[in-house]
Amino acid sequence: MLFRGPDTNLEMKPELRILYLEDDPKDAELVEETLATDGIRCRVMRVETKADFITALEKGGIDLILADYTLPSFDGLSALKIAQEGWPQVPLIFVSGTLGEEVAIEALKIGATDYVFKTRLSRIVPSVQRALREAEERIGLSRAEEALRRSEVYLAEAQKLSHTGSFGWDVSSGKIYWSQETFRIFGCEPPAEPSLELVLHRTHPQDRALVRRLIDRIVQNRKDFDFEHRLLMPDGSVKYLRVVGRPSKEGSGGFEFVGAVTDVTERKQAEEELRQKEVSLREAQTELAHVSRVTTLGELAASIAHELNQPLTGMVTNANAGLHWLAGDAPNLAEVREAIHRIIRDGNRAGEVISRVRALFKKARMAKERLDLNEAIEEVVILTQNEVQRKNVALRMELAADLPAVMGDRVQLQQVVMNLILNAVEAMDSVEDRDRELVVRTERGEGDEVRVTVRDSGVGFDPLNAERIFHAFHTTKPGGLGMGLAISRSIIEWHGGRLWAEPNDGPGATFQFTL
Ligand code: ADP
Repeated sequence: MLFRGPDTNLEMKPELRILYLEDDPKDAELVEETLATDGIRCRVMRVETKADFITALEKGGIDLILADYTLPSFDGLSALKIAQEGWPQVPLIFVSGTLGEEVAIEALKIGATDYVFKTRLSRIVPSVQRALREAEERIGLSRAEEALRRSEVYLAEAQKLSHTGSFGWDVSSGKIYWSQETFRIFGCEPPAEPSLELVLHRTHPQDRALVRRLIDRIVQNRKDFDFEHRLLMPDGSVKYLRVVGRPSKEGSGGFEFVGAVTDVTERKQAEEELRQKEVSLREAQTELAHVSRVTTLGELAASIAHELNQPLTGMVTNANAGLHWLAGDAPNLAEVREAIHRIIRDGNRAGEVISRVRALFKKARMAKERLDLNEAIEEVVILTQNEVQRKNVALRMELAADLPAVMGDRVQLQQVVMNLILNAVEAMDSVEDRDRELVVRTERGEGDEVRVTVRDSGVGFDPLNAERIFHAFHTTKPGGLGMGLAISRSIIEWHGGRLWAEPNDGPGATFQFTL
C-alpha cells in the first residue's frame, strides 16, 4: 500500500502527493482539477528545473510524478532517468502536448508508466489510478519477497536447531532437492547433486539393503513413510536418521515425495545409555539372585566343611600317633614332638579358614553408598515375586514416600530383606492360602532414621526364642542352616543399625530393622 501510517484504510487515504515537472502553472491547476472532479484528492507540487525536481524527490513523500516532455531548461526523459535511478517505486506519467506517438512508445520502453496528451487530459484519471495500483502492487510484491526471504531464514534456522532437513524427490525425473540442513546432515555441500546413489553411498553398509528395499516399496506404494537408518560418515562416525515423507502433487510428472530427515543420533545415544544401564541393573539382579540365601549358605557351608575337614582329620590322626609314641616303657619323644608340631600346623590352618569365613561376612566385602532403600527393596520384591506368587501369598507394600536416603551396601541390605521375605513366606507354608499375608513397609523414624518392617501371618515363634533365632546354626527347619538371621543381623549391625523380631499378637511374626 502506498499510504503512510500503519492503519490508514482507503477512506482515510490522505491526498495524493504529485510532483509535476511543468513550466506552465495553468496546466498544473488543470490537472489538479481534473483529478479532483473524479474524486482523487491530490496536492500538486509543480517544479520547473532539474534542481527543484531532485530536491522535491529527496524530501520524500512523493506518490506520483507527472512530467512534461519538453521544458525550457530540462526535459522529461532525463527526469525519468533520474527518477528511475533514485526512486524506482514512484510511477512517472508523461503529460505532454508535443509527445509524438513514437517518442511516447520509446518513453514507455525505458520505464515510464504511461503518457497522456494534454489535449485529452481526462485520460489522466484512469492513468493515475492505474499507476497507483501498479505501484501498490510493486510494493506489495517487494513486501511479499521480504516476507518470503524472512520465512526462508527462519526455516533454515529452525531446521538447523531441530537437526531436521527437508527434501523433495521427483520420482519421474529422478531429481532430488535438499535443504541446506539436509546437505549438512549428509555431510556434503552444493554443488554436490543430491541423488539416490549419494543417499545409498552414505547409508551404513549394514543398512543399505534395507534402505534399498524400503525405497522400492515407497515408490510402489506411494504412501506415507517413516523409517530410521544409519549413515556412515567419511570420518567413520555413525549417524542415526529418521526419514519421514509423503507423496505430493508438486512434481513434474504430477507426483513426487516431500519429507524430512532428522538427525536422531543424540536420542539414539541416550537410548543406548539407558539400555546399558538396564543391562547392568539386570546383571546386578542376577548376581543378587545368585547370592540368594540357599546358594550362598549352601556353598559356603560345603566349602567350610571341606576346608576344615583336612586339618581336623590331620589333628586327630596326629594326636593318635602322639599317644601311640607315648605309650609303652620307652616313649619315642622325638616322634611325639613331631606329631605335636603337625597338630599345631593343622590348627593354624583351621584358624586361617575360620578367619577367612569371618572376613567373608564382615566389612571386607561391604562398601557404603548413598541409596534409596525403597528402590532397593522394590528390586528384591521383583526377585522374590515368583516365590511369593507360587505360595499364594498376598503381598502388601507400604513404602514411605518421604524416606530419606541411607548410606549402605546395596547388595548386602537387599540380601537381608530377601532373607526376611523368604523366611516369612516359608513360615506361612502351614497356614491356609487365604490367610497368607505379607507386609513390607518402610517408614521414617526419628531424625534421619529409616525403619523397615517385614510382617507375616505364619507360624510365628515362642517369645522366649526372640533372641535365639538370631544365633548362628539355630534352625527349626529340616535341612536348615540357621545362618540367615545371624548373617542378616551382622550386616545390619555393621551398618550401625538394629535387627530384631517379635511374634505378632495374632498369628505370625514381625521382623524389623533400623538404619
Ligand atoms: P533357616 O531359615 O535356615 O532356619 P534363619 O537364621 O533364617 O535360618 O532362621 C532361623 C530360624 O528362625 C528358623 O529356622 C525359624 O525357626 C525362625 N524364623 C525365621 N524367620 C521366621 C518367621 N518369619 N516366622 C517364624 N519363625 C522364623
